[in-house]
Amino acid sequence: MAIRVVLIGQGLVATHFAVGVERIKKGELEPYGVPFAKYQMVYDIKDIEIVGSYDVDNEKVGKTVYEVAVKAVGDILPVPETLKSITVRRGIHLGSMEGLPFQVKGLEDELGSTKAAIERLVEEWKQLQPDVIIEVATTEPAKAFHDVKALEEAIEKDDRKRLSASHAYAYAAYLYAKETGKPVAFINVIPSPLARDDAIVKLFEEAGSLVLGDDGATGATPLTADLLEHLAERNRYVMSIAQFNIGGNTDFLALTVPERNKMKEETKSSIVKDILGYDAPHFIKPTGYLEPLGDKKFVSMHIWWKTFNALEDELVVNLRINDSPALAGLLVDLTRIGKALVERGEKGTAYPVNAFFMKDPGPRGARNMSRIRAYYQLLDYLREKGVIK
Ligand code: NAD
Repeated sequence: MAIRVVLIGQGLVATHFAVGVERIKKGELEPYGVPFAKYQMVYDIKDIEIVGSYDVDNEKVGKTVYEVAVKAVGDILPVPETLKSITVRRGIHLGSMEGLPFQVKGLEDELGSTKAAIERLVEEWKQLQPDVIIEVATTEPAKAFHDVKALEEAIEKDDRKRLSASHAYAYAAYLYAKETGKPVAFINVIPSPLARDDAIVKLFEEAGSLVLGDDGATGATPLTADLLEHLAERNRYVMSIAQFNIGGNTDFLALTVPERNKMKEETKSSIVKDILGYDAPHFIKPTGYLEPLGDKKFVSMHIWWKTFNALEDELVVNLRINDSPALAGLLVDLTRIGKALVERGEKGTAYPVNAFFMKDPGPRGARNMSRIRAYYQLLDYLREKGVIK
């Protein structure tokens, strides 16, 4: 049976996801970079069917995903023709692209209010019938509500300053699930607090649906988490951690806006205390935009620690990482897991999934752990739920 997927934000990550999935379906690509590909899951990668896409960039809305993909990655990848059948629709903006050099417009401006825009999305989703909705739009400043009434009031009053686009999308997904009785998995791989927002988790629980998040863990952060676990297990005392990322894609360009960078800083830093048990001094941030690096970002890391006999050791790691494909590979499993879990009656959020896949795992207050531990805990959980045979 197919897994029907709607993408929010037809940028580089969504494009690598769409291109990669279609290439795997054609049998021309091995699923490297898909964490659970070697296990037999109830849903195969070939079951994934992208049925809709949303963006707010006037350059993308109205074009097919094929056209967007040819422009973005056509020089390095073959773009499958099957993507010609999906046209990018207009989404909700709520200021998410403010201050960036793109011509944008939101559905709320076209229809006069955020509430009307949410209702429009729900109507469209009733036609598209998604099982999984993936939020992978530009990082935006967003604050949790924790209170359903406060969230609903912000929508009712069209409070565009308080409400983030990701909250509006998540609320639309909740309404869609509630009105159709068809549970949905909402996968949030951007830093907006959704799986860490009590209000959103509560609404999804009520609609028998699942919100997974927040902020996909792909590059240096999960590696740092595993290195810290290695040190913690040997009782080495970490003196400081420096980790920076410099990239040339539009995601890094967006992070040059201070409030956005702050969103990332928050989701990246929570690993230190959770894994070590103390807050070692650290500098962990996306540090800058350098256009010629493109999507292949440069990451550097320095950690030093006290070892036996009070001597000091240190490590330095340098990496060049293809940023967007790393997250796209995780999305393949998140999609299959999300669909299988909602079918098995899981609702609210699912910490074992978030702990492996996300930088800041929901629900609110949940701990970060090393990815190696999280991987095996998730494997046990998926077997127990019958998602992996
Ligand atoms: P991108 O800039 O290439 O794409 C983002 C897309 O979202 C753009 O097409 C933009 O027009 C669109 N958009 C912006 N606001 C929107 C809205 N309100 N509704 C619908 N569409 C909207 O960025 P990307 O590299 O694809 O990254 C996407 C997101 O994934 C970012 O938030 C990033 O922080 C997150 N993320 C990426 C990685 C990774 O690349 N490895 C890891 C973790 C998280």
